[in-house]
Amino acid sequence: MLLQVLGTAAGGGLPQWNCACPGCAGARDRPERRRRHASLAVRADAGRWYIVNATPDIGDQIEDTHALHPGPGARQTPVAGVVLTDAELDHTLGVARLREADAVELVCTAPVREALLAGPRLGAVLGPYTDLLWRELGPGGPDGPGGPGGPDGPDGPDGPDGLGGPDGLGGPDGPGGPDGLGGQDPLPLGSELEATAVPIAAKRPRYAAGTGDDDPHWVIALVLREPATGKSLLYAPALAAWPDALQEAAEAADCVIVDGTFWDEDEPVRTGISSKTASGMGHLPIEGPGGTAHRLTGLRARCLYTHLNNTNPLTDPDDDRHKQLADRGLEVAVDGMVIEL
Ligand SMILES: [Zn+2]
Repeated sequence: MLLQVLGTAAGGGLPQWNCACPGCAGARDRPERRRRHASLAVRADAGRWYIVNATPDIGDQIEDTHALHPGPGARQTPVAGVVLTDAELDHTLGVARLREADAVELVCTAPVREALLAGPRLGAVLGPYTDLLWRELGPGGPDGPGGPGGPDGPDGPDGPDGLGGPDGLGGPDGPGGPDGLGGQDPLPLGSELEATAVPIAAKRPRYAAGTGDDDPHWVIALVLREPATGKSLLYAPALAAWPDALQEAAEAADCVIVDGTFWDEDEPVRTGISSKTASGMGHLPIEGPGGTAHRLTGLRARCLYTHLNNTNPLTDPDDDRHKQLADRGLEVAVDGMVIEL
């Protein structure tokens, strides 16, 4: 499995346009500290990639990543589609930047799709420019290629053939059963990759406050698995909770990339950006008894943090907290990082 980290910052990026905090000021002074909004690209099969979360930076992120450049045909793109882990604006605004394509495949859960159609009215606004081909990720399992988007999706009839059968699940690590994914059927992405959602929380974007029900599929952790090798990635840029299914998925994964928005619980209050704590804002902190570091320590997977807020002291590469993490075997992801599993 091949991954490319396209961005590692929380909402606003680093620097954030209207912020003069030490993290943002440091990134203005030292461009090597800049971080784009959290996103990654994963290869689905030869020459086809999915982008996980469409950030406001997606155009620049594609330009900075050779594997995502178009060609050889004039309008031939290796970007097969976008997987969304939630409906937050910082993870979805970039969909509008892809409107030059004839069609855009969007893989997400039902609450995320409904929020994007009803709140930002993505279907109505982008419909005159491009076809949005929705594929559902979630408790009902895959609705098949094309799904609600129609039978002429970019996968066509020949895309995921041969993947859906039970024999696609039994890679070298054995059957997918113990992944803790509740028997959910994985959704094929291309011929070499499949996706499964681990429900995390019913945290809605602010624009969707009060809508929908308390479905924990508003925010998911994404498991991407390559059946041929049995290798898997757990990607969770927003963790409001650590349910048992997430722990099981983390134990089964070869690489874990998770929410590193805040270093500790009091950071948002201490830095003056919010009256809420980190977990009150929907992000478990890294450090502390309720933090994620102790959960990641000792996993067999390579573990990295992403989605750093500009207040996070880890935005300073010389900060001693990097060593504290390294001592526990944990890393902080950086933009442009290539990970091969
Ligand atoms: Zn700032």
